[in-house]
Amino acid sequence: MSKNLLITGASRGIGRATALLAAAGGWTVGVNYRSDRAAADEVVAQIEAMGGKAVALPGDVANEEDVQRLFEAVDRFGPLHGLVVNAGIVAPPMPLLEMSGERLQRMFDVNVLGSYLTAREGARRMARSRGGEGGSMVLVSSVAASLGAPFEYVDYAGAKGAMDVLTRGLAKELGGEGVRVNAVRPGLIDTEIHASGGQPDRAERLGKATPLGRAGRAEEVAEAIVWLLDDKASYTTGALIDIAGGR
Ligand code: NAP
Repeated sequence: MSKNLLITGASRGIGRATALLAAAGGWTVGVNYRSDRAAADEVVAQIEAMGGKAVALPGDVANEEDVQRLFEAVDRFGPLHGLVVNAGIVAPPMPLLEMSGERLQRMFDVNVLGSYLTAREGARRMARSRGGEGGSMVLVSSVAASLGAPFEYVDYAGAKGAMDVLTRGLAKELGGEGVRVNAVRPGLIDTEIHASGGQPDRAERLGKATPLGRAGRAEEVAEAIVWLLDDKASYTTGALIDIAGGR
């Protein structure tokens, strides 16, 4: 029987690559997106074309009602077994002393509140004491949480630090519930997130200075996420795995 997986922010980038790889491995995938319906539909079509099952599901993770509606839509598949807390944003690079309150609010609303709300709804469904069947949750953090991202994104880095702490704490809360909780911490991955922060060439430019000498690909992050979702990672919980080319 196919297992059910929800991925937030799966219309492009790392979420999309994870949706395609997980579907190829037999997962039924909820492809969440915020604004780009056509891109999410394209991911679903690609999964269906390879014989898999997926559905596009709208919702802004920073909005609690949207998150609840999103999970209610996923409930129609049957029990939830996997969750990838992936949706995230950056903003144009600048030092903290130039950041507006509005920017900080949105950064923490999407990346912190959104992650906590999503993880909570996943936990409510997968925890055995709540009638769930157990499962695996993967949070998509960032090595920025260790580096601090000075002069660029200290807001983003702080939000990702909160996701690391959530991973460690929730892994302890849910260990006895049959739910594993881990994080991947990508480095410079070639996706559209850099253009959304006003630096389309950022991954390629800075990737050259990493020990592996290049930016990473979304598919390389997806491999680690799908492994963590799988029972092959059955003794791994509370782990933060850097997928950052040694950065
Ligand atoms: P991306 O290409 O910009 O894709 C972001 C995805 O998130 C899109 O599907 C977008 O959907 C969705 N999204 C954005 N805001 C949302 C919201 N409020 N609610 C629901 N969905 C939302 O980004 P990416 O590079 O794949 O990044 C994915 C995750 O990896 C993020 O958490 C990011 O912080 C993390 N990460 C990325 C890198 C990197 O170098 N790329 C490095 C470290 C960590 P719409 O298009 O519909 O808005």
